[in-house]
Amino acid sequence: MKCVFLSAATSFYVNKIDYSGCLATVSAYEWNEIQYRCQGYDETDRMGFGSHHLLVFEKGDNGIILILQDSFDERTSVGFHSSDLECQEHVFLIADGVADRMILSGGNTTYSGYNASAAVAYANTWCGVSAANTNSGTIHPENYNPDYYYALNDCANFVSQCLYAGGVSLIPGNYYSGWYYTPVTAPGGTGAVYGGDNSGSFSWMNVFHFMNLWTAQGIFLRNGNVMNLFPGNPVFWVNSITEDAGGHLMICTGYNAANTPVLNAHNGDMKQVPVTAIDHPAPLYTFIFKCNHNWVVEGNHFRCNVCGSVQNTIPSPY
Ligand SMILES: [Zn+2]
Repeated sequence: MKCVFLSAATSFYVNKIDYSGCLATVSAYEWNEIQYRCQGYDETDRMGFGSHHLLVFEKGDNGIILILQDSFDERTSVGFHSSDLECQEHVFLIADGVADRMILSGGNTTYSGYNASAAVAYANTWCGVSAANTNSGTIHPENYNPDYYYALNDCANFVSQCLYAGGVSLIPGNYYSGWYYTPVTAPGGTGAVYGGDNSGSFSWMNVFHFMNLWTAQGIFLRNGNVMNLFPGNPVFWVNSITEDAGGHLMICTGYNAANTPVLNAHNGDMKQVPVTAIDHPAPLYTFIFKCNHNWVVEGNHFRCNVCGSVQNTIPSPY
């Protein structure tokens, strides 16, 4: 599907400059905020994402400053390069979303009482997005929730916080068996405080162990696609479901006008980026803590063809 950039606002924050002879190496953080419209839809959508740049400038004898290098990669966050953003009205492509969300493989376990709206609200508040980002790097913890520590690889920590905000109970245990965070006892002013990987239990902080823990808790692991990513649910890419081979964890925060699920994440920070614009090399999975049921008649009852739940009557409204 063709989408058109209506406006693209980029903020660029220089964090550090190292001088060496006539060369200057600049470390900077770029925040892009984009308004776009999918072809055939009247609504304007918004998304935002951050990226880290490493630039090398050279000052020539004639006083002219040349950019020798600008290293960055946004493909795993949004699937296109910053150069795409330089002109307004730029047309880009995202894969088609679908109107009807249906089915999957078996399994029907969701999380009872999960408040997906609260999780989404949390994700939108604390994904790190702000017009006032002032630090550089792939993350900007001054915009993270100061009640939590953060790690340099903070994606699982963030999604764990979102689930907790949605009413998922902590699981007591040790570092390997529990699902919990380490409370911040002395917040360092504004923003979250660095706590490294010990900011929470293994499964709170690590994508693979997050996946293992919830699978062990009975939440059914599903292959992800545009049809089964629902607001408030974790969305992740892992290279392996049997060993820790790296991955990335995000959370679905709704849909754009074309009904494509949009995602928020930490590291790199992103807000409401269409899943189809993300070019991650690993396979996509999701847990459905909360299902947007799609009831179909089956015999004398109704069955949700997404999560497999069965009901005698359809709840109203549905
Ligand atoms: Zn369902």
